[in-house]
Order: sequence, then structure tokens, then C-alpha cells
Amino acid sequence: MPNPKRRHSKSRSRKRRTHYKATAPNTGECPNCHEQKLTHRACPNCGYYDGRSIIIPKEA
Ligand SMILES: [Zn+2]
Repeated sequence: MPNPKRRHSKSRSRKRRTHYKATAPNTGECPNCHEQKLTHRACPNCGYYDGRSIIIPKEA
């Protein structure tokens, strides 16, 4: 099995990982209650998805 001859320095690994960035999740407006929600997820505010009530949201 091929193996690396020398270990990479911490600096080298960290320089490579400077390009790894977290991206903001996609949000959109709920067509039922017009709150911002994650796309392709049931709305946490009203519990609707695809025009139907999927979940009963927790009362505040
Ligand atoms: Zn909603």
C-alpha cells in the first residue's frame, strides 16, 4: 500500500482548510404564514408543507 513518506505540517493542513467554509442554509418564505423557513422542510411556525398541515407546531 502506498503511504506518505513525510507527515504534513500543521501549517500545510491548515492552509488547505482555509478554503473550507460553512455556507448559510437556503431559506424561503412560507406560502402559508409568510415566515422565513428552510426550503424543502415543513414550516416550524405553522407546520405546513406543500399546502397541507404536516406537523402541529409547539405552542410558545
Ligand atoms: Zn408557515
